[in-house]
Amino acid sequence: MSNIIKLLPDSVANQIAAGEVIQRPASAVKELMENSLDAGATQIELVIRDAGKSLIQVIDNGCGMSPIDARMSFERHATSKISDANDLFAIRTLGFRGEALASIAAIAHVEVKTRQHEDELGTCLKIEGSEVKSQEPCPCASGTNILVKNLFFNVPARRNFLKSNTAETRHIIEEFTRVALFQPEISFGMIHNDKPVFKLPAGSLKSRILGLFGNHYNERLLPVDQSTQSLRISGFIGKPEFARKTRGEQYFFVNNRFIKHAYLNHAVANTYTELIPTDAYPSYFLNIEMDTKEIDINIHPTKTEVNFRDARLVYGVLQAAVKKSIGLHSLSPTIDFDLDPSIEQVFVTSPGDDLKKPTVKIDPDYNPFNKGKTGDTTFPRRQPADTGWQKLYGDTPSGDRDTGEGPDELSTGGKPMAASRGRFFQVQNRYILTNIKSGLMFIDQQRAHERILYEQYFKQLSGKGQASQQQLFPYNLQFSAGEAEVLRTLLNDLSRLGFHIETFGGSSFVVNGIPADMHENDITLALEKIVENHKQHARDINYDKSVNLARSLAVSNSMKEGKKLSETEMEDIFDRLFSCQVPEVSPDGKRIIKVLVQEELEKLMKK
Ligand code: ADP
Ligand code: MG
Repeated sequence: MSNIIKLLPDSVANQIAAGEVIQRPASAVKELMENSLDAGATQIELVIRDAGKSLIQVIDNGCGMSPIDARMSFERHATSKISDANDLFAIRTLGFRGEALASIAAIAHVEVKTRQHEDELGTCLKIEGSEVKSQEPCPCASGTNILVKNLFFNVPARRNFLKSNTAETRHIIEEFTRVALFQPEISFGMIHNDKPVFKLPAGSLKSRILGLFGNHYNERLLPVDQSTQSLRISGFIGKPEFARKTRGEQYFFVNNRFIKHAYLNHAVANTYTELIPTDAYPSYFLNIEMDTKEIDINIHPTKTEVNFRDARLVYGVLQAAVKKSIGLHSLSPTIDFDLDPSIEQVFVTSPGDDLKKPTVKIDPDYNPFNKGKTGDTTFPRRQPADTGWQKLYGDTPSGDRDTGEGPDELSTGGKPMAASRGRFFQVQNRYILTNIKSGLMFIDQQRAHERILYEQYFKQLSGKGQASQQQLFPYNLQFSAGEAEVLRTLLNDLSRLGFHIETFGGSSFVVNGIPADMHENDITLALEKIVENHKQHARDINYDKSVNLARSLAVSNSMKEGKKLSETEMEDIFDRLFSCQVPEVSPDGKRIIKVLVQEELEKLMKK
């Protein structure tokens, strides 16, 4: 019998390996730029042509290579970064597998010019499809200048699978971003078809983010910095109000290496759940620094996945860090308190009423992030004063107002505030209109009510705040077997919300009590929605039962559009809204408040 097994020639083995490491031009960009970082470069330029399909060039001022190392670097498993398996858990460099250059050289025309600082002459090496074509001494700058031409020239299948130039360029920009983001002290440049794409001088992390994503990020970022004994998390997160509809700017790094990690993403996303619309994603740019012994990065050839020895610890610290940062951020972006109050004169409301300070019914211990836990000191509590509502009217002791000697922002030449007339109007049975110092405030009554109920329910679900309940003449409910199963799992939470529901064999239930704000006619629909909602979303990675229940019930029980409100009811909504933690947005992220400032009113009147 004849033997049929043979060892593959290196060129073929390299081509196969290349399939794993180099999927598209962007993968080569990543590997080459990482090599430059590993070589200690402080300046790295990327030049591409035709989305990298005809040329990828990376020029660095790093340590360079000796002629022999240059030749060696293209062999498979040739690396200067590790020498035995133990080193795998002490990796500080970006590369270590020693297969990138070998892979690239197997499927492209490569030319490298490199010189170590101390050498007078450098070396120039040409390789095509794993075959060394030439190597000779050459004068060149210290550092490494590598050109990769005609990628996949000998793998037509790969070449044909490449996407349009636009799509491949997008991939390259993404890889470039991942490499450059957490290396702000290193300067980077990128040129595509002779046109500059990025010019990123060395600077702060913030300036690097602005350089990569645009100057408008300046007002969108919140700093994050949290250290514990074993790790530090630092960087920036996006303010909730700038959350995007597409999963875009989400960047985790571990020891400055970009990684993907669904579990950690959940830690961040979860913290934002009630602050942003359900279909929006928060931005983040975060680096986790920790001992290399605590992580395993050798689980995937592209090295973007890692295993943490204690992922739960990282999760916890990450969540605390993000909470702290959001908590420190003032949450009143839509209200500008400091505009000229003369506009108050323009709108005359019904006279007679004295200005009353809104009564605040607030539990100062309430913290929407503190889900059922006590003693969470990582999140600074937001005191009611922070909402700034007092400033809307000028929070002065009675008497001051008459003399015009209130706090500075109220001193309007001794004039009484216009707001001391009637305070609330209703427009189209939909908006509550009130006159504030800086202009006219519109409040969407239904969304405001949703926010109020949502925070109230959330508090009840986390064991704070007592539900008020109305007793019912026992009310029968019938569900399908599957739905009944879901409802049973929710009964405990529902009782915290004020429901008193008993199982009644099989899939029947009896409702004896419901939340005080609920209308008896809405019971079936509300519970059906709650069950349906839970069924649909329970598996989502961002799912939070309390948030979902509170949101669902708040929507069911809120006043319906077009409800006529009395002045007292409007005042009540106003007071309760501004006792909320997040009065500006509804639980599903829609705007509640709009202030028309003087300038806007003047513009309107000019037309
Ligand atoms: P790895 O980065 O995993 O070690 P590579 O195939 O990417 O493997 O590179 C092989 C070796 O070539 C590296 O270990 C390094 O010693 C050397 N090298 C690659 N690129 C550069 C560079 N730009 N400057 C200096 N040395 C380099
Ligand atoms: Mg490498």
